Amino acid sequence: MRNVIIIGSGCAGLTAAIYAARANLNPLVIEGWETGGQLTLTTAVENFPGFPEGVMGPELITRMKEQGAKFGAEFKSGSVTEACLSSRPFKLKVEGEEMETRSLIIAAGASAQLLGLESEKELMGHGVSTCATCDGYFYRGRKVVVVGGGDSAMEEATFLTRFAASVTIVHRRDQFRASKIMIARARANQKIKLVLDAVVDDILDTKQGVVTAVRLRNVKSGEVTELPTDGVFMAIGHRPNTEVFRGQLELDRDGYIVSRAFVRTSVEGVFAAGDVQDREWRQAVTAAGSGCAAAIAAERWLEAQHS
Ligand code: NAP
Repeated sequence: MRNVIIIGSGCAGLTAAIYAARANLNPLVIEGWETGGQLTLTTAVENFPGFPEGVMGPELITRMKEQGAKFGAEFKSGSVTEACLSSRPFKLKVEGEEMETRSLIIAAGASAQLLGLESEKELMGHGVSTCATCDGYFYRGRKVVVVGGGDSAMEEATFLTRFAASVTIVHRRDQFRASKIMIARARANQKIKLVLDAVVDDILDTKQGVVTAVRLRNVKSGEVTELPTDGVFMAIGHRPNTEVFRGQLELDRDGYIVSRAFVRTSVEGVFAAGDVQDREWRQAVTAAGSGCAAAIAAERWLEAQHS
């Protein structure tokens, strides 16, 4: 029986682990499939306080994990496949192993969204990617497309210019969701071209088993064109990893956990932190902040159970 299990090993989960470990709660962190969360898929992080020179996302995560382990947090790889939150202690199944915990912190993050095209599925890993940091290296001197108009799209496109000969950002509107500084950086980059008001209708060529082009449709004129490319990077947002809690916790229409007082969920003793409950801010530092709050809230709640 655990005092607290933390689901997720991104910024939120690891900050919760540091605080819970320092409160002598001996937390167990279930690392999930995407160990380290989204920061491991990014390059330089320039807005995490305390790093005026910037810090690489994977390094920041590695150091957070070390900090948690130093104070006694334990880690288990794998994902939660079943959860029972209707009675206490809460029960989880992790890679076939049953676990019980008095309190639970869900910091399972969010996963990359896809367009939903059959060709996208077929060509995933064969020219279609959701991670420029992971796959950019393979596109040295080649042409790539980045789909999306948020900060991720700007960041991935800018990063890809280190390798690719040209990067085309395809966005479905003529206004960007990204922050001004990220747009300005992308616009100033000679290797980046913008195709606006366009959606990807198809990715070619599933017959050859590699990406050769994208079929674009202008949403205003209806015109359909083919843009030759060697790779397509999806940067169209993320989906919260909450499927296993559906029907057990209050979720909003998109599956984000509904939280009150920052980190409290609809079930007493279950707390939520990071992107799994945050559709608005979604920053490393806000995820860390909510991870901290969730650990303190869990500690206080556990204490109240004894008094
Ligand atoms: P986001 O801000 O939600 O942007 C997603 C983009 O994809 C939007 O432009 C959206 O278009 C487009 N999109 C969504 N579904 C689509 C579809 N089916 N087909 C075509 N386009 C689609 O997601 P994000 O860029 O991943 O950023 C998430 C959060 O992380 C944000 O808060 C962001 O500021 C933060 N972030 C920060 C940094 C940084 O500061 N270094 C880097 C990356 C991310 P619409 O605009 O038309 O909705």
